[in-house]
Amino acid sequence: MRVVMHKEATADDIAHVVRVIEARGYSARPIQGGERMAIGILHNRGPVDPNWVLSLPGVKEVIPVTRPYKLVSREFHPQDTVITVGDVRIGNGSLVVIAGPCAVESEEQALTIARHVRRAGAHLFRGGAFKPRTSPYAFQGLGEKALRILAKVRKETGLPIVTEALDHTVYDLVEEVADVVQIGARNMQNFTLLRRAGHSSKPVLLKRGMSATLEEWLMAAEYILEGGNPHVILCERGIRTFTDHSRNTLDLSAVPVVRKESHLPILVDPSHACGRRDQVIPLSRAAVAVGADGIMVEVHHRPEEALSDGAQSLYPDQFQKLCEEIAPMAALYTRALKPGITVGSPKALAST
Ligand code: PEP
Ligand code: MN
Repeated sequence: MRVVMHKEATADDIAHVVRVIEARGYSARPIQGGERMAIGILHNRGPVDPNWVLSLPGVKEVIPVTRPYKLVSREFHPQDTVITVGDVRIGNGSLVVIAGPCAVESEEQALTIARHVRRAGAHLFRGGAFKPRTSPYAFQGLGEKALRILAKVRKETGLPIVTEALDHTVYDLVEEVADVVQIGARNMQNFTLLRRAGHSSKPVLLKRGMSATLEEWLMAAEYILEGGNPHVILCERGIRTFTDHSRNTLDLSAVPVVRKESHLPILVDPSHACGRRDQVIPLSRAAVAVGADGIMVEVHHRPEEALSDGAQSLYPDQFQKLCEEIAPMAALYTRALKPGITVGSPKALAST
């Protein structure tokens, strides 16, 4: 249930409502809206009678929240959440581009790719230090060494870093370096990890599990918000279907539904969805058209030598082309790009 306060409600009124809710054994979560405060009621089992709240000073109205996810739902929080990472805003109507290799393989590799993607117009750099691999014999990532490399990449290029925390035991290490901590598809329902992310002040990029329904995905996000971290970015990365023309099936229909259901920003990762370089650019265009807040794509300067996901990694010139293609599309869908920089424009090139 969401308790909406009058614009004129005082801090004392709000504190009083919180106390009354908590005295009933529920938890109260103040939410700052555009013009007025709201207070969410959580941890109630079954419906709550609105009358005892409605009579409290400063209360304007009480709106029932019908969805199983509360904090992530639009019913609870009607305004879009905008997440700030350095000078990048995610979810404010601009189109964000995250790019980089699947895994950090060496300093030279990460820096080379970061310089390429920055020049083309990427806003954030991605690269795995701890890799979730299907085979225990596959490259598992350079771990802490990769985190040191990522810190260097940020220092040299200014690009904020997105990297994955594979489990709760490495979270401290990862959040020290990462500007955005990724929780991968295979970990979407790792509840210990979700709870750890809830205690972090760093934004979390939560990928959709490859067999997760939208409700399961939003419930996973709910764990993080419930834990106290409101900075969650959702990322659709393809789901398991019967198709064999691509690694997974990019579920673009999730984007408008999530946008309607939730205030959290939503990105699309076409690389892991298709697993094939030739499908990444068309699917990225589709992601922009369907209204995603941004895309995350894998790029490698020598994909044939990549230690993971080379087949889906774009060459730098393809990434440049992709940025050039989506810039006018972003404008068409009223998604401004980073202020002062047009993706793929000569200005972006000059700013490196
Ligand atoms: C990744 O982004 O590197 C990754 C492993 O993605 P996913 O969890 O979506 O498979
Ligand atoms: Mn990958």
